[in-house]
Amino acid sequence: MVHRPKKAGKSIGLVPTMGYLHEGHLALVEQARKQCDTVVVSIFVNPIQFGAGEDFDTYPRDLSRDQALLEEKRVDALFAPSISEMYPAGYHTFVEVGGEITAKLCGASRPGHFKGVATVVSKLFNICLPDKAYFGQKDAQQAMVIEKMVRELNFPIEIVRVPIVREADGLAKSSRNVYLDAEQRKQALVLSKALAEAHSRIKQGERDVARLKEIMRAVIAASPQANIDYVEIYDAADLSDVEQVDRNVLIALAVKIGSTRLIDNLLVEV
Ligand code: AMP
Repeated sequence: MVHRPKKAGKSIGLVPTMGYLHEGHLALVEQARKQCDTVVVSIFVNPIQFGAGEDFDTYPRDLSRDQALLEEKRVDALFAPSISEMYPAGYHTFVEVGGEITAKLCGASRPGHFKGVATVVSKLFNICLPDKAYFGQKDAQQAMVIEKMVRELNFPIEIVRVPIVREADGLAKSSRNVYLDAEQRKQALVLSKALAEAHSRIKQGERDVARLKEIMRAVIAASPQANIDYVEIYDAADLSDVEQVDRNVLIALAVKIGSTRLIDNLLVEV
């Protein structure tokens, strides 16, 4: 698939996704289109990054709609492998990124998740041979994990991070937003509201991380269907602990609205 452009000296940009595409995914595609000669998008709902009891079976899928959207964006190739192509019977090889980066946030809530992500992304890199690969800041921890993997395993690939695309009212776009009913859709705004509140307090001079987390928790508690998984503030470079906002920090949260787990984050540069 990619050998011809590769031989012709064309640059390849890869956008890995799980499909059910929205404007967040398409922002990655547009960035790749600007920077690369050949753009490859992968669509694969990767079973090994889902835990038991998570939404692998119900994850939204619509390949023909996705295909049409990608054609509009002048994508050169869509790679949508089957599970057995990626993980044939007897498959036993995995990539595990260690350290604090995978131990916290979604790594703590979803054991094995980042092992599944690092493994599938490694395979996609080897199959698609990209020069650049595009990841959304929406999944900030995932981008950090991939950057660390690329550094430590010497993949000759540049990781490009793309800012979060939001709905007009602030909700981060996500394929999982389709799970929300009308009332839950309203309540889902507590994620972006909590981040905005923390941001404005920081701008007013609040630096205490424990206090800022309390403030965010209070915003979320006002919503009866919201259950906090985590609300955290860590060093944006390596997710190490911080007590004061005295360097760039990542404010990250995961909240269940009904049975739908949503994540959001804000990078605060000081
Ligand atoms: P997913 O299909 O959810 O695995 O996402 C595929 C890629 O799109 C990941 O790199 C995500 O971070 C990125 N992405 C998903 N939603 C957004 C968004 N709202 N804004 C920017 N990037 C996003």
